[in-house]
Amino acid sequence: MKNFSLTYAPGTALQRLALQDINLSVAKGEYRALIGPQGSGKSTLLQVMAGLLTGEGQVTVAGLDLRPAKNRDQLWRQVGLVFQYPERQLFEDTVFNDVAYGPRNLGLNEAEVQRRVRAALAAVNLPPETHRLSPFKLSGGQQRRAAIACVLAMEPRLLLLDEPTAGLDPRAKGQLMDLFSRLCREKQVTVVLVTHDMEEVAHRADKVTVLSQGRVVLEGCPRQVFACR
Ligand code: ADP
Ligand code: ADP
Repeated sequence: MKNFSLTYAPGTALQRLALQDINLSVAKGEYRALIGPQGSGKSTLLQVMAGLLTGEGQVTVAGLDLRPAKNRDQLWRQVGLVFQYPERQLFEDTVFNDVAYGPRNLGLNEAEVQRRVRAALAAVNLPPETHRLSPFKLSGGQQRRAAIACVLAMEPRLLLLDEPTAGLDPRAKGQLMDLFSRLCREKQVTVVLVTHDMEEVAHRADKVTVLSQGRVVLEGCPRQVFACR
């Protein structure tokens, strides 16, 4: 991103400058943490990277200039965004069909769809007996994992995670964080993680970007960033 700014509801009484003059570069295969107080612009930044929000300035993701709408429309094939509380977006009759929805939209053949769904559900530790259940029959933690599987089944090159483990117990949280690290290290998936968990940031991130009031105020490896607090 080069000199990127975003204003919500411009020209209205609710106008809000959410991102201001952002310059940011994330390398392929990197694990980047995005931290900062509530309202500092973290979620907005992830949505820009996913091509879901636009502003002023330059954004290039996976080689695509995101200014033209047609390029933003292409991005969903390569970028997976896990929203906060992604389980709210489960809607199919079975867990299997929910996870298959995206790959089917890609126009993949059914054998490939099945392979991806099984792989994604195995990766998040949802056992086969849950695949035929309604997602609404699952526990909260299982629903979260099913929703994350929906994104993983798209096999994104860039994985954008907005507090993906909020509200989960420590064990489930650790398993998912291990999974995201593995995807990064073993499959060269680029990960951008928004979190308030400084322990996770310190242990896993290659680099940390700190936002405050819509600006990048600090950036570096965890050691550098935490040393100057
Ligand atoms: P964070 O994820 O760091 O909590 P956000 O990106 O959600 O921050 O919000 C950044 C700023 O933009 C905040 O001031 C927030 O109130 C504002 N904002 C977020 N979403 C909207 C929206 N849809 N309309 C207007 N303002 C918004
Ligand atoms: P469609 O209307 O093409 O069936 P959706 O309604 O599911 O697709 O999503 C509309 C667009 O929003 C997608 O083309 C994609 O660009 C974007 N999108 C939705 N969810 C995600 C996500 N989890 N990650 C990245 N992009 C998404």
